[in-house]
Amino acid sequence: MKSFFDYERPELAATLHPSFRATQLFKAVYQRRVENLDSITELSKGERAALASEWDIRLPALYRRFESVDGTRRYLLQLADGELAETVFIPEETRNTICISSQVGCALACTFCLTGQLGLTRNLTAGEMVTQVLFAQRDNLSEEQIDSFNIVLMGMGEPLHNYDNVMKAIRILHDKHGLNMSMSRMTLSTAGLLPAIQRLAAEPHIPNLAISLTGATNTKRNELMPINRKYPLEELLAAVRQFPLKHRQRVTFEYVLLKGVTDSLEDAQNLVKLLRGIRAKVNLIPLNEADELDYRRPSEMAIQRFQQVLIDNGIAAYVRKNRGNDISAACGQLKKMVV
Ligand code: SAH
Repeated sequence: MKSFFDYERPELAATLHPSFRATQLFKAVYQRRVENLDSITELSKGERAALASEWDIRLPALYRRFESVDGTRRYLLQLADGELAETVFIPEETRNTICISSQVGCALACTFCLTGQLGLTRNLTAGEMVTQVLFAQRDNLSEEQIDSFNIVLMGMGEPLHNYDNVMKAIRILHDKHGLNMSMSRMTLSTAGLLPAIQRLAAEPHIPNLAISLTGATNTKRNELMPINRKYPLEELLAAVRQFPLKHRQRVTFEYVLLKGVTDSLEDAQNLVKLLRGIRAKVNLIPLNEADELDYRRPSEMAIQRFQQVLIDNGIAAYVRKNRGNDISAACGQLKKMVV
């Protein structure tokens, strides 16, 4: 059986006769959310049976679900080969966020991130990313709210290390006869894979870009994010300066605040210098602490002081709220924890 969720509509159309069946199936599966191809009554019985024997539209099995006191939910979804994909649903008053993984584990080994300690097991397929979204959507949103969510590729893995599958998943999610997610509702977060950022810049459809920065000088960033030794800050920021932005669109920079390491006034000033001339928004993420990490979270005062330097220099800076910390669902905490 072939996984339906791995296919873009044009690919599907090329395998089906008549080809407009692809659009019918997309609407049935993504918009009407049928769980069984046999229930698509506009098709003949024979046709339904033939499709059902060829195409698998089952979502992955739920392995574990964890609920935070703040309403955040973390899912471990079991994939065909037994591996687990980790997904987080973050409810908010004005909009909900579905955070999906692009890989099992991660190869980048950032020193403050638990996923980085796992190493990379494998890339996820496009279908395995699409079904994370569908699972979280169907498990959390009622009929009236069914489309009120944004997607962030900020779960396990480095999306740009899995470029082709990630872009395919984005196109499937964007399809107007499918979930019809606009590009402005999807954000791809990267630790800074330079050639892939340049490739992304040339795509016809581009999601929002977020860059995980965390060090504002090469010396510091080399220590914290080994990828910086390959693609240093000046080259990374030069590529971001070239990145095409729509009217009023901005690049997001994620900056993890580590006590005594990245939280000084000098660090804040270095960050201001680095971002000069870029239409940027900064999300400050106070470290989510863990026993396995040697770093500490700064005090509230240090966090505010850092934020104020950015604001005083005309940079939009927000402190990311800590969500799902009690269920290991917060930034940098995803590591397939099953308890
Ligand atoms: N590999 C991509 C996608 C992961 S996004 C990237 O690096 O952008 C995960 C975000 O969580 C990154 O911005 C990372 O900097 C942040 N993060 C990692 N570990 C963290 C921790 N312990 N506390 C807070 N944020 C963390």
